[in-house]
Amino acid sequence: MAYKISDECISCGACEPECPNAAISEGETVYVIDPDKCTECVGAHESSKCAETCPVDACVPDEEHTESRDALLEKWKKLHPGETPAA
Ligand code: SF4
Repeated sequence: MAYKISDECISCGACEPECPNAAISEGETVYVIDPDKCTECVGAHESSKCAETCPVDACVPDEEHTESRDALLEKWKKLHPGETPAA
């Protein structure tokens, strides 16, 4: 399942450079996560970097974008052709 950024976001920008998939960008009012790029950090890290970084816990699972771990890994492979995913 992709992550999303809630209205709690204070637009500090701390999460943006942490995303291994460049899925996070500045939106009109709060930062936003592209669900087509978010892999929950599967393929790169053991846990979701944006959620760990956010000072106000605004990065939360997006219930509208649920995917299996296998699907998330496939998404990561498409985003990083030729690279080897982290274990
Ligand atoms: Fe990026 Fe990981 Fe956050 Fe998804 S969970 S937006 S891949 S940092």
